[in-house]
Amino acid sequence: MAGSGGIKIIAVTPGGLAAAANVSPGDLLLEVNGETLLDNLNYQFLVGQRDSTEILLKKPGGALFRAVLENWGDGLGLELADDEIRICKQNCVFCFVRQMPPGFRQSLYIKDEDIRLSFLYGHFTTLSNSDNVELDRIIRERLSPIHVSVHATDPGARGRIVGAPGQGDILRKIDRLIDGGVEIHAQAVIAPEYNDGEIWEHTLADMWERRGNDASNAGKQKGGVISLSCVPVGLTAHRQNLPPIQAIDAGYASGWVRRWKRESRRYTIGGKKRPWLLLADEWFSKAGMKAPGRKYYPADWNQIENGIGLIRRFQEHSRRFIKSDRAGGFAGLRLLLLTGHSFAPYLSQTIEALRRYVDAEITVVPVPNSTFGESVTVAGLLCGRDLLSAAQNDKRAANGQFDAIIIPSASVRRLTSIPAAAKTTGPQTLPCGHCNQAMDTYQFLDDMAVAEMESRLGLPVIQSGDNLSSLLGQVARQAPSLLIGGL
Ligand code: SF4
Repeated sequence: MAGSGGIKIIAVTPGGLAAAANVSPGDLLLEVNGETLLDNLNYQFLVGQRDSTEILLKKPGGALFRAVLENWGDGLGLELADDEIRICKQNCVFCFVRQMPPGFRQSLYIKDEDIRLSFLYGHFTTLSNSDNVELDRIIRERLSPIHVSVHATDPGARGRIVGAPGQGDILRKIDRLIDGGVEIHAQAVIAPEYNDGEIWEHTLADMWERRGNDASNAGKQKGGVISLSCVPVGLTAHRQNLPPIQAIDAGYASGWVRRWKRESRRYTIGGKKRPWLLLADEWFSKAGMKAPGRKYYPADWNQIENGIGLIRRFQEHSRRFIKSDRAGGFAGLRLLLLTGHSFAPYLSQTIEALRRYVDAEITVVPVPNSTFGESVTVAGLLCGRDLLSAAQNDKRAANGQFDAIIIPSASVRRLTSIPAAAKTTGPQTLPCGHCNQAMDTYQFLDDMAVAEMESRLGLPVIQSGDNLSSLLGQVARQAPSLLIGGL
């Protein structure tokens, strides 16, 4: 965290409190109310504490400068530089970063381990970087709920999994947070022979003993574990110099689902019986089973970013959409839908249901992941080269049977270009030819631009969105001429 070096102020709101106190971009903010500033979250907490806020700054020339601002708990009208991400020092046996193929951009090899990302974005943290001082900071600043990778409560098993025997005792940290009133979404990534069997049963019992209340009673919360997910381990074809782990196949996955989906009914919290023990979608897709019904998932889909409920939420939305007038917008469309092997059967079923109501030529093709290895079946890890070759190898596409190719939105990231051609290389630096302003472009994990795929295929390449409605919206935006009657 920033420590005593301060954090640079990058913008000051004209006419705001900070501007009136002669605070300028480029100043370093050292202290707030006499406390050394740690980071952006710490800043928000500290300025919200009092009606007036004392700040200590260092000007670019080195002069120190104090000011008291009457902010009544609101912001001060300044923006701080982004925090540096804290790097993970563990060596988990299934760390995905350590299983990456070579040759990708450097940022994909960064292992983050940061309680701030856990609170803000739902990234899971092992709490390995968190000493007592940091745990107390989480409590004081109410960084709750926080997302914790428990994996196993047995110290020996956990130490083996995270590759650090000293990090085996997770319960001590969890108990400290819970005593301080923090709520925890927990997960265990299940690796056969590392933390399944009795180790998992103990983990489950330990977490259940520490369960919290129903989060819908927010405000009266005590700390506790408010959900526990189990996720099957993901292995790529690039596990050089890593300990062997047994892959989870269809038989293992169906055994897990049969046992724990049934048992999960016993694990609910609060008066509304909110589901607490959650199985990741991948268990069901690996087992070739249908996804559980809506009631299996919490009303707020609280671990959906962790791959829990994505299939069901898609199916629920599709069911409603197909019965709506808007579904008619698909009439006459000829689309090739590319996706990962794990989602393809569910997507195919949905498209079949749509085609019972709408005359459209829509085909789903599961795409093997030749970059990470075929054991990786999720759509979000498909690379541009995988999707391109699937489209090029599809005979129907080659014969002109489709008007557009649909790719999974999860496989691309958005880049916003710098305007006025300030930079000259890379697909992210394309200024809009009409207004010379910033525009968004999209890239796959392997840095191939969607625009490149489009030009190589000679067809519009359209992102799927999260559901059929957003897919239709994307078609309307990118290839409106394909829609017969408009939207
Ligand atoms: S905690 Fe483990 S899985 Fe996560 S980044 Fe660190 S080594 Fe990788």
